[in-house]
Amino acid sequence: MVDAANFDVTAKGGALAAAAAGRFDALPVYKPEIECASREEIRAVQLAKLKETVAYAYERVPYYREKMDEMGVAPADIQTLDDVCRLPFTDKAVLRDTFPFGLFAVPMNEIRELHSSSGTTGKPVVVGYTEDDMDMWSECIARLVQMAGVVPGDVAQMAFGYGMFTGGFGLHYGLQRLGCAMIPAGSGNTERHIQMIEDYGTTVLVATPSYAMHICEVGEAMGYDWGASPLRVGLFGGEPCPPGLKAEIERRMHIVCTDNYGLTEVMGPGVSGECLAERFQQHIAEDHFLWEVVDPVTGEPVGEGEVGELVLTPLGKQGIPVLRYRTHDLTAVHTEPCACGRTLARMDKVRSRSDDMLIIRGTNVFPSQIEDVLTGIEEVTPHYHIIVRTKGGMDELVVETELRPEAFSDSFESMDALRARIVEKLKSTLLVAPTVRLVEPGGIERAVGKAKHVDDQRVK
Ligand SMILES: [Zn+2]
Repeated sequence: MVDAANFDVTAKGGALAAAAAGRFDALPVYKPEIECASREEIRAVQLAKLKETVAYAYERVPYYREKMDEMGVAPADIQTLDDVCRLPFTDKAVLRDTFPFGLFAVPMNEIRELHSSSGTTGKPVVVGYTEDDMDMWSECIARLVQMAGVVPGDVAQMAFGYGMFTGGFGLHYGLQRLGCAMIPAGSGNTERHIQMIEDYGTTVLVATPSYAMHICEVGEAMGYDWGASPLRVGLFGGEPCPPGLKAEIERRMHIVCTDNYGLTEVMGPGVSGECLAERFQQHIAEDHFLWEVVDPVTGEPVGEGEVGELVLTPLGKQGIPVLRYRTHDLTAVHTEPCACGRTLARMDKVRSRSDDMLIIRGTNVFPSQIEDVLTGIEEVTPHYHIIVRTKGGMDELVVETELRPEAFSDSFESMDALRARIVEKLKSTLLVAPTVRLVEPGGIERAVGKAKHVDDQRVK
């Protein structure tokens, strides 16, 4: 069914075309009364919900009551949004130390679903959702997928794994809430994914960006014509999406792609999402999340628009109320109105975490800096791998980058000249000289789930 009013967004590539033409009024908004409210209205909703949330956490979660008593702050002391800084921070360690249900504010018979983080480094973090929490979660996702150009009636294929990971079910519920038909394909079996897109007329693909790239390449190798495919929108999550990779997927699959941000500890996906007007930022669901940006070392707030660590307080969450969760993600938040018509604040896409900074021979290096340099070199693909190891008592940074088929040559001189040029570019950005290895086309392993780009082999 194609509605004349949004014909352009339901035609293949139409959302991108409408966005490119600046016709954002052609794109519907799920809940305009909050997404397009005035800043004063948004802040009033946040303050009312913050007061309730703090009182609820104090009453029901012994950890927060003890912590607040220790700090000499009572729920009644929260009179303005700025008072949030009087409350204790919550770190991942608190969630792990209270494993499994220590921060739960309701008995298990009020919980409808449990999810957890993967727990690759120690105990997992377990979170529980009440019926109201599930409702709020679905709505947050419905908003962000609509923001990305998805409309009711779309057919959405899930290439995230389901299971305990919040991404699969989160997107599943939210897309259904908007009125889409879900195909719960799950991760893996790439050729079957492509067959299903063709057979079932899939218009929306949910995947990690690295897996979407893999699906794209497998389809091309099978001779599948992405330009003639029904697929129109890619919804990415589960890992940061490098702009170069996104642009490449859009070009080769003929789709428009957006990514969203979230984390299990505060809800899962749905905290913020990208609109089609501002491709490098994401609107925060501010009626459900109070954001702060702080200095990662001192914990003090930084000025508006300045980069710092994102701290989130979910508002009105019942299963686990979390106060001031330290995400370790570095970003800046902006509150000027957006061309899409939304007034919700926008955060810069998270490209780095305060804890994935690598210290190499005393210099701070973020993997996202390496990614940005490689994106600017036309002979290489978006696939790369970083190895840090100790060689002769010194740190060595090794960057493996994959050649495009057209750049691959058996001339040693031309390959060596390219390698030297990449070393020079990386060195001038990072201030550390890396060892660069050129890998033949297809030589860097493709991820089916989240891509792992860094292997730090140094002994801690
Ligand atoms: Zn916007």
